[in-house]
Amino acid sequence: MIDFNYEISKIKEKGLYRSFRYLESAQDSKTFIDGKKVILLASNNYLGLCNNEILKKSAIEAINKYGVGSGGSRLTTGSYVLHKELEKEIAKFKGTEDAILFNTGYMANIGTIASIVDSDWVIFCDRLNHASIIDGCRLSNAKLVIYKHCDVNDLMNKIKKYNREKSILITESIFSMDGDIAPLDKIVELTKKNNILTMVDEAHSTGIIGNKGKGVVDYFNLSEKIDIQVGTFSKALASEGGFVVGENSLIEYLKQKARSFIYSTALSPQTIAVSLAALRYLNENSYLIENLISKTIWFRDKLKSFGFNIIDGITPIIPIIVGDTVKTVDFSEKLLNEGIYIPAIRPPTVPKGTSRLRISLMESHTKEDLESSLNLIRKIGKKINII
Ligand code: PLP
Repeated sequence: MIDFNYEISKIKEKGLYRSFRYLESAQDSKTFIDGKKVILLASNNYLGLCNNEILKKSAIEAINKYGVGSGGSRLTTGSYVLHKELEKEIAKFKGTEDAILFNTGYMANIGTIASIVDSDWVIFCDRLNHASIIDGCRLSNAKLVIYKHCDVNDLMNKIKKYNREKSILITESIFSMDGDIAPLDKIVELTKKNNILTMVDEAHSTGIIGNKGKGVVDYFNLSEKIDIQVGTFSKALASEGGFVVGENSLIEYLKQKARSFIYSTALSPQTIAVSLAALRYLNENSYLIENLISKTIWFRDKLKSFGFNIIDGITPIIPIIVGDTVKTVDFSEKLLNEGIYIPAIRPPTVPKGTSRLRISLMESHTKEDLESSLNLIRKIGKKINII
């Protein structure tokens, strides 16, 4: 038997107890928590679209036309014409033959990996890949070969040692907790040379990098060379729902085989309508990406000049590495008291000894938001002796 209270007390002792903060207004650059206005500096709503009037209107119109709730799984009664339209739009956006929608990015990863890969396979997996990729790998029962984070030499050595007839490499493109970019160009050289299937998770890059936000695959001009691309509407695109894009045959196969696609109720019409509206909005307003990038460069430079240990990069995910778990939580709480919300990220989400504040910027943050945030981060950073 398991003693739940004992297990919880152990989690608390290690400083790893997770709790909730409830937002009382929209997911925006400023929001309310416990009745207090705070600057939200950790959201994946990178383009600030969660409270966008056009996207909100699209949801209301879809509700008026189709009602709420999809009432069934995709292969029974839950497929609306909107689902078909969105799958077409995603494929067009990513420049691939076809696309399949899943309810979440998590489900896209586990469903895709576990339906393609089995115990005859080897999976080459970046050490910092997201939990949904790891869980998909575990479900597949394949031999899992972990290579050092973004380390092409280590990958090459591991390919030499472990490659089999059936192999797949899986990597994120922008890493969710580190904000750095996988060297996809070099990785693809290796996978192509060694006949390894390549799967890239573009969860955090879709909407913020590449031509009109098409992602890192587009940024490196590799669309033709990546076999399986995963993405989600839940970050920059301000909605919900994962997706996979690729050749027709891959998408057909996933529709027949991916259990997380088949055995779950379809996304509701309003969610699909928002995703469609987000893609169209992005297409017409890609200046948002440029704004986000210039704010990011400026903000990163400032943090660095203060002496914080941040992971270098060009993306709006900016982790301040603190290391100690208790200190990281203290940093986060002190910031919240002063009106800035950045939750502490701790193991097992990140490796032991690398607890951090994962800052993420939104296009909708004003210069004043960012300047006052920087001042407070610096003040508290000094107070707790990390700079
Ligand atoms: N893949 C990565 C790299 C992620 O960071 C996330 C985030 O949660 C997911 C997949 C899952 O996406 P979703 O939130 O849509 O389930």
